[in-house]
Amino acid sequence: MNTLLVAAGIHTLRGDPNAEPARALLLDGDRIAWVGLAEAAPAADRTVDLGGAWVTPAFVDAHVHATATGMALEGVALATADSATQALDRLRRHAADSHSPVLLGYGWDDFGWPEGAPPTAEQISQAAPGRTVMLHRVDSHSCLVDAATLSRLPLQTLAGVVRDAEGIPTGWLQEAASEAAQSEVRQRIPASQQQAARTAACRTAASLGIASLHEMGHPGLSGLDDARAWAAGDWPIEVITWWAQLDLAAALGHGLRPGGDLFLDGSIGSGTAATSSVYGPAGDNGALFHDDEAVAAWFSDCTAAGVGGGVHAIGDRAIEQAIGAVEAAAAAHGVDAVRRCRHRIEHVELPTRRHVQRMARLGIVASVQPAFDATWGGDHGLYAARFGTEAARSSNPLAWFAQEGVAMAFGSDSTVTPLDPWGGVAAATHHLGGLGLPRSAALAAHTLGGRYVAGQDDVGALVAGHRADFAVWDADPFASDDPTALRCLSTVVAGGVAHGDLTLNGSRAGRTAGGFSASP
Ligand SMILES: [Zn+2]
Repeated sequence: MNTLLVAAGIHTLRGDPNAEPARALLLDGDRIAWVGLAEAAPAADRTVDLGGAWVTPAFVDAHVHATATGMALEGVALATADSATQALDRLRRHAADSHSPVLLGYGWDDFGWPEGAPPTAEQISQAAPGRTVMLHRVDSHSCLVDAATLSRLPLQTLAGVVRDAEGIPTGWLQEAASEAAQSEVRQRIPASQQQAARTAACRTAASLGIASLHEMGHPGLSGLDDARAWAAGDWPIEVITWWAQLDLAAALGHGLRPGGDLFLDGSIGSGTAATSSVYGPAGDNGALFHDDEAVAAWFSDCTAAGVGGGVHAIGDRAIEQAIGAVEAAAAAHGVDAVRRCRHRIEHVELPTRRHVQRMARLGIVASVQPAFDATWGGDHGLYAARFGTEAARSSNPLAWFAQEGVAMAFGSDSTVTPLDPWGGVAAATHHLGGLGLPRSAALAAHTLGGRYVAGQDDVGALVAGHRADFAVWDADPFASDDPTALRCLSTVVAGGVAHGDLTLNGSRAGRTAGGFSASP
């Protein structure tokens, strides 16, 4: 049984954007069978009138830490805490409300806090006595822990332990120390709590019109068990899992995509992004976590195997290392072989114009988070404070990528910024340095970009033959002044309804029962 959907309009994101929009879409199983004007529609077994609703391709969030996203929905919300005192107050209240042995907080940002430092391990233990506590910094590159957790870590051997004037560890752990602490704490989280968090992340994504998440699995941040749970699970939406280890065989052996959030450097907020200029609290310029040869050998392995690899590179020195490594792979295997892989660089926040041109030649995809610019860019944000206004204005240079022909895949890096695809589109159009995109290009980067970089050539634009992944909105996304006000009425993944008022008779894929029926 096939179903004809009739809407106020359908933005297919294929063909002439100025042409009269399609209004009807024929759905057959998990595929789109036909798209066009309503009066030209073929006969169908059933017709569903969506009234004034509009349809677009579904969003892809191409960079997510999805278990943490689900945990954060239940955890201590610290993104709006204005001081260390306020963060501790929220922890104290959460401890009183929760029965979990492990309390997790997300999103604190000490930039501008009056105390000049985040809370100490002692203060955290006083706020939540007897609990294991981990409070993740907004950039996910450092965390705060309680005193008991701190005492269990091998602090002498770890890099990234912040100490006070007397040399005593404060409880603030960065990079390697933060990852060690996360591994320690993760074992204490009940499995049922983790599984519930995964499902919650998918449902929240679906409610926002997201049909596909790129889960950025990481040995230090989330662990192999979590990545394997994502890869093996059956979720309400599609989840593609990457694995940030410089070991191609390990990733493929576990059924995971190679790389992703594979850190070549750290972050700007934690002062660990690798740049050519000196900056940050420690007055240095960050460090590269791997040597050039190892990164080049890995990209060469990926290219020889015909699979796309991804690396996290924020500062210009890390971006240089990533591009140089892909150039070495091109020298060994040819530019065409490299381009076919659609390798990706995550964040790519501080590239030079020349970097962008070299990425275009190699077909490297920029996996970018427009909300980073909205949060930290512009003349008065963190990036300007670190690097000066000129560098801040050309951070996350979306227009450069577009002008040079670099494909973009948008994401949130949730929990760094929230799952909020229209917020990402809005941030991309209002780039604080003037390097933004038209709304149509931003929408394409947030819907089609993630499909392209994942090698999914049969899903994305709403055309006949493609998999039926789309989102239904309460108004025309191109007519509304503020797209963040749009409400997602339904999200469809592979012909099955993952969210909203449309209901399928039967399974998620919709192949057994066939077709939509309008719900009461
Ligand atoms: Zn990253």
